[in-house]
Amino acid sequence: MLDIRDRGHGPNTYPPSKGVPQMPEFSFNNAVVSYAAQILGNKIKGEEAQSATALDVPLVTRTNRYNAAFRAAKDAIGSSHHANWNDNPSVRGFGVFYWHNNPKSKRLAEMYLAEYKREFPDLPIWGTGLFASMPGSWTNFHMTRVPNYPAVLVEWGFMSSPQDLRLLMSDDYRRRCGKVAAKVTCAWYGIPFVEGGKVVPIKPAQTIQPVVDKAPPAVGQEVVHLPPAASSWRLYPTNKAPVKGNEMAFLNPAKFGGLSYTIIARPQANVVTIQTSQFGKGNIFVGPGTGATFSSNQTSPAKPLPKKRFVKLPARSGGVNNTSWALYHLNKPPRRSPASNIKLELNPHKFGGLEYEVLGNHSDFVNVVKIKSAQAGEGWIYVGKETGAKFETR
Ligand SMILES: [Zn+2]
Repeated sequence: MLDIRDRGHGPNTYPPSKGVPQMPEFSFNNAVVSYAAQILGNKIKGEEAQSATALDVPLVTRTNRYNAAFRAAKDAIGSSHHANWNDNPSVRGFGVFYWHNNPKSKRLAEMYLAEYKREFPDLPIWGTGLFASMPGSWTNFHMTRVPNYPAVLVEWGFMSSPQDLRLLMSDDYRRRCGKVAAKVTCAWYGIPFVEGGKVVPIKPAQTIQPVVDKAPPAVGQEVVHLPPAASSWRLYPTNKAPVKGNEMAFLNPAKFGGLSYTIIARPQANVVTIQTSQFGKGNIFVGPGTGATFSSNQTSPAKPLPKKRFVKLPARSGGVNNTSWALYHLNKPPRRSPASNIKLELNPHKFGGLEYEVLGNHSDFVNVVKIKSAQAGEGWIYVGKETGAKFETR
């Protein structure tokens, strides 16, 4: 028995993509996988190629590892967990994908759908809830196509729907999604599932700092630092009690290598008011054990500038002038047919080569990255080795 559990993306995928301002998709995926793992414990071993803290692991690396694990444990099953997105905010609901001609994957997908309906009889299902991944279509996902083990890709709801987003951000929903996943795994292996008592709230990995007892400096002169080990830190409205459930957003120190804010008020013990650029003013809990540290404004450590990745499209490759390098629409598959997938033909040859900042990797297509063209805005480009595209981090 082996439960292959995939967190979908790494913690560094929002920004630029994979999330909405209120919630990086990873925070949801991570919570579901962690809850499922917690419930299953040692009863059923797990395999996780994308950890809760490591930078995004390329899909190929992940499936190589999962397929190797499957060679060793021939009865392994796998699931990749996601939150969905649609341009239309009224699209809602749960859906699960399986590779179209793999009956075991289909069976696993059906079990997910049935268990989801049992747990959430009142919540909407997206379409029929079951999607066969087909080659040459938008459903051709790496995580359903490449696995040799029975595999599903689960979309637990739409970040683009305000109602779904509220669910996706709630600890209760995340916990119950983890329970659904654990129940399906138990059912697959014919192991009785014992309800209740096993799931405890997940705290982000935190470093415990010694508490230095000193008189608090004057307001506005002190800076609070949230450590990079924490991937989710509740931000509360200033007019509500800073308790779980009242949060208006989650800060993600991990994504930025830690976050620092000037303290603008101390409304109560271990709670400070800060001004965030994304969510405005709010309160955060910074008690002992959270890993928050303090310094005076004057000595606040400079944050290192995050490195950026760039891709260079050569003027010529393989003896051919690169006069048309397709820039694909963000919401369409990165392939030349139909032609309406293409937003613009970039012309590296005309400019002696072109360079763009890499804004993200496509989650479903290998060697496809997001860039922003000055002329046409954001889109996908294909940068497989044979194209001669070169990457640089600086
Ligand atoms: Zn995803």
